[in-house]
Amino acid sequence: MFDTLQDRLGSILNNLTGRGALSEKDVSEAMREVRRALLEADVALEVVRGFTDRVREKAVGAEIVKSIKPGQMVVKLVHDELVALLGEEGVPIDLNAAAPVVIMMVGLQGSGKTTTSAKIAARMEKRDRKKVLMASLDTRRPAAQEQLRQLGEQTGVATLPVIDGQQPADIAARAVQAAKLGGHDVVILDTAGRTHIDEPLMAEMAEIKKRANPHEILLVADALTGQDAVNLARSFDERVGISGLVLTRMDGDGRGGAALSMRAVTGKPIKLIGTGEKMDALEEFHPRRVADRILG
Ligand code: GDP
Repeated sequence: MFDTLQDRLGSILNNLTGRGALSEKDVSEAMREVRRALLEADVALEVVRGFTDRVREKAVGAEIVKSIKPGQMVVKLVHDELVALLGEEGVPIDLNAAAPVVIMMVGLQGSGKTTTSAKIAARMEKRDRKKVLMASLDTRRPAAQEQLRQLGEQTGVATLPVIDGQQPADIAARAVQAAKLGGHDVVILDTAGRTHIDEPLMAEMAEIKKRANPHEILLVADALTGQDAVNLARSFDERVGISGLVLTRMDGDGRGGAALSMRAVTGKPIKLIGTGEKMDALEEFHPRRVADRILG
């Protein structure tokens, strides 16, 4: 995670801290290199531009040239700017609503939606002592429904029994009703995905949203798809409205561009990251820790 950026920024900034006085020109040159490193890490161009401009302005404003350890100051400015970019504080899933709290999971096929639904459910049961009910709304793919059932069995989380022929929005309504009757605190709706966004998918999501009234709508996106993940988040937010994101396959993403651009471009927080196939490979996303890691 973030390995490329860590290496590149590390050597650029080390170069600065290893020296004494810095001129404005030194800072500008370093920022040009930082800019290149961020672009190579697949961070969105619009994000990169503002980032280095702000660091340069602050460095010059702080009369960096006159400070005792100018290099360290630049490193701190880059760190603070990374934290600002990522959104300062981590934003957890919000369960502050009347039970059953409905969480709707949306995203493309293969993004890790079903796996992530089960990971979240298992964690809520274990750590937060919540009683969770999961329901698969993927009526087109019986294999997806079976996958969720198996994950439920494996993690000890209840799943809504499948009724053949029932439509997604009707299944969602039935899940909420079953949760009310069964005393579940949380309902996780694992919606259908497609290989790309299309109108019927968006209409289906809108219908489910209307019927189930979710408190959270989480987009699950594959971090390895980089800027496509960011564009996807923007589209889903415009069409369905999302409350946050889960970025999966962060274990395989050495560049991290999607994670770094997401908040700035979409205004929505990354709430969780997936770091592997196992059920416990789920982490909260903490901007400060990420910035520390990148500048580690
Ligand atoms: P869905 O079609 O969106 O429901 O995707 P699935 O949940 O079926 O996931 C597709 C594949 O990605 C499965 O093999 C998962 O085990 C794998 N997967 C999901 N999340 C992660 C992750 O964070 N890291 C890795 N390495 N694999 C993941």
